[in-house]
Parts: sequence; C-alpha cells; structure tokens
Amino acid sequence: MNAMLPAFGCTAGGIDFDVALQRILDLVDRPLPAEAVPLESCVGRVLREPITARVDLPPFDQSAMDGYAVRTASLIAGAVTPVTGRTATGEPPSRLAACGVHRVLTGAALPDGADAVIAQEHVRRDGDLLTAAAVPPVGTNIRRCGEDIRAGTALLYPGATLDWRHIAIMASQGFSAIQVSRSPRVALLSTGRELCAAGQDLAAGQIHDSNGPMLGALLTAWGASVRRVPIVADNPATMRAALRAAADGVDLVLTTAGISVGDEDHVRDALDALGGNLAVLKVAMKPGKPLAAGRLGRALFVGLPGNPQAALAGALGFVRPLLARMMDAVPPGSLQICAEFALRRTPGRTEFILARLVRRGDAFVATRTGSDGSGRLAPLLTADGFVLLPASTAHVAPGDVVTFVPFLSCGDRPR
Ligand code: AMP
Ligand code: MG
Repeated sequence: MNAMLPAFGCTAGGIDFDVALQRILDLVDRPLPAEAVPLESCVGRVLREPITARVDLPPFDQSAMDGYAVRTASLIAGAVTPVTGRTATGEPPSRLAACGVHRVLTGAALPDGADAVIAQEHVRRDGDLLTAAAVPPVGTNIRRCGEDIRAGTALLYPGATLDWRHIAIMASQGFSAIQVSRSPRVALLSTGRELCAAGQDLAAGQIHDSNGPMLGALLTAWGASVRRVPIVADNPATMRAALRAAADGVDLVLTTAGISVGDEDHVRDALDALGGNLAVLKVAMKPGKPLAAGRLGRALFVGLPGNPQAALAGALGFVRPLLARMMDAVPPGSLQICAEFALRRTPGRTEFILARLVRRGDAFVATRTGSDGSGRLAPLLTADGFVLLPASTAHVAPGDVVTFVPFLSCGDRPR
C-alpha cells in the first residue's frame, strides 16, 4: 500500500484542495540552488538576489530634445543670439558661453550653465545665429540626473519572475549576470496505450497525445527545464521501468493519466513497487479527482489525470505553485472578479470552471465558455483561465465576486 499521511482533511471523495496543495508544497524541503546566469538568458527565471540601483539614471543632466540649451536669465525673446557650441549625444558636457545658446541633441549632456532646452522646431536659425520667439520656463526639456532611477534605490526583490521589463532595468544599471534559481528539471510522461505521438498516423482506437505537448509548453513557460519521455504504454513492467528511469537526475516526475484505480491504471502500483511515497492520493476537486503527489526516489512526483481539462486544472492548481516553491518564487496570483453567470451545485468539491474575461463598461467580468466536459480541448481556445469555486460554494449569482486563476500568471510581484 502507499504510505499515506494521516487522513486529516480527507473526505470520501478525496482530500480538500487546500490540504492537498499544502501537502504538495510541503514536499519541497529547500529551494533549488541559485546560479549566476547572463542577463539575456534570465527571462522566466526567478531572481535570488536583491537588485539595487548602481547608477543614477540618467547619470547626468541631459537634453530631452534636439534643440538649443539656453540660460533663461540672459535669453531675450525675439533677439538674435549666437550659437556658440555644440554637444552631441555621447560627448562629455561642455560649458555654455556667457551670451550664447548651445546646440544639443536628444540625450546629450546639458552644458554647464544652461537651465532649459528649446526644441529646434521652436526657433529660427540663420547660420550661426538663432532667434527664439519665447523664453522657456527653467527646466524645460531637461531630464535631470537620477530623475528616473536614483543610485541606491531598491529595484527588484528576490522571488520576482523575470520578464523583459526586469531585463531592461537591470541592463540600464550595468548588470551582466545575476543570481537566479536553477530551473527545476522535470521529466514529463504521457501514459496510455491509446496515445500516439505527434507526426505518427493514428491507428484504430488511438488519439494523439495532447497532454504531453500542452504540459511541456506550460512547464517551460513556468521556468522548468523539461525532459519529455516517450509515451508509456499501460503495462505494469513498462510503467515501472519508465518511472524508474524518469526519476533519475530530475527534480520532479510529472505523469498524466493512468493514476486512478481502473484496470489499465498502473501508475500508482508502479510507484508502490519503486518505493514511492504518496502524500496525496485523491483530491476533492472537479475536474480531476484522481491526482497523486509525493516522492519517487530523490525526485518529487505528481500524477495528473488524463482528461485534458483535468490535467490542466491539476497543473494550474498544484504544479505551478509547486514549481514556484521549488524556485523560491512569489506564488502565482489570482484575481477577484465578478461572475456574469449563475450556477447551482452540490457543495463538497473545489471546482475549476473554464471562463473568459469580457469587458462590461469599465470592468472585466468572468463568463463561462460553454460546455466544459473535462475531456474537451476546444473550449480552452476561448477561455482565459478558470474560475475557482471553493468546496463550500453551493451557488453563484451574476455579480458575485469569484476567484479567477488566469492561464497567464499575474500578480506575482514580490512585496
Ligand atoms: P485516464 O486518466 O488514463 O483514465 O484517461 C482519461 C482520459 O484522458 C481518456 O479518455 C484518455 O484517452 C485521455 N488521455 C489520457 N492521456 C492523454 C493525453 N496524453 N492526451 C490527451 N488525452 C489523454
Ligand atoms: Mg488510461
């Protein structure tokens, strides 16, 4: 038998979703180690060091326009003034002559003594002479040293999942390599005799494996390094061999299908035979009650159900937070949003309902995407995520605030 944890939180239909999630997160003893990675390769990686601004941005007072730097106190509107100097972008700052104006280009260092820049379209230039129709207010078209970012300011915190914005900010501060979590190594197995890999012709009774490619894409987007294992047939010996090999050298083994107790469900028996230890066997959720998680050798193990929507709900509900915990990332966020649908149901299971965000006036609300059968793939195309109903919910009325779990992560901003 599987070595199960005490049955607290357990109901006949499986343990509570929240209890299952906690047990799965508790499987992580310590986060994966950090490693130095070149900035350009850090998209999707989790930051493990605080990032503090090293330099002021901009690092010097500079012109925000192609134009003329002036000293407003000595400029006379309508009078002809000589252009006495020029600073191009990238040149060191110079000095503004006592009674002149100074040609500057966008981003060029403001000459000492200047306190405004007049855009070139607002002057008349004739050879080296210039006439300004008006004297601008002090500070016009000047970007002050440090007005964007001040050296010493805390910019990013450990736990941030890095995207192009973070890369830009860190590049502006001269960082070339940073400490991020090592990517979790995940072995991904699709199990089932009926499965046929992409590119192969379907035999009678077969379907193409869609869970493997779907989960591979999701895991990669969530920062994992994925090793796809060839499809595993429903056969006890094959299953054992595949799981044993898969667990070698990875942090997580993730399977889909074959996790229930049907005649052709062999994943749990194979795990038992290999000395696996399951902390979760069944979860009171819909879709996807047969969902197992625990340890297999030195790797963690999650067995998702085979129906695509159930596999997806399990991946979003458990695997995404698990990966975040492994990488020491801020947990993925959810939204609170008004439902636009009505629903009555028997309480008892946490339910994942496919939903789309639609705009109503100034706000977005969640609508259902139609028939949800957990084996269906097509409704995913028009959905933006799942509405997550707690086990205790018996009904939803239009206008009720519900929890929305977006397919794209959001709100995972540290502090
Ligand atoms: P199971 O969990 O093995 O009972 O499978 C439940 C349903 O999911 C069956 O209809 C399977 O054919 C289907 N299924 C299992 N694995 C996959 C997969 N990798 N891709 C698409 N459908 C699958
Ligand atoms: Mg099966």
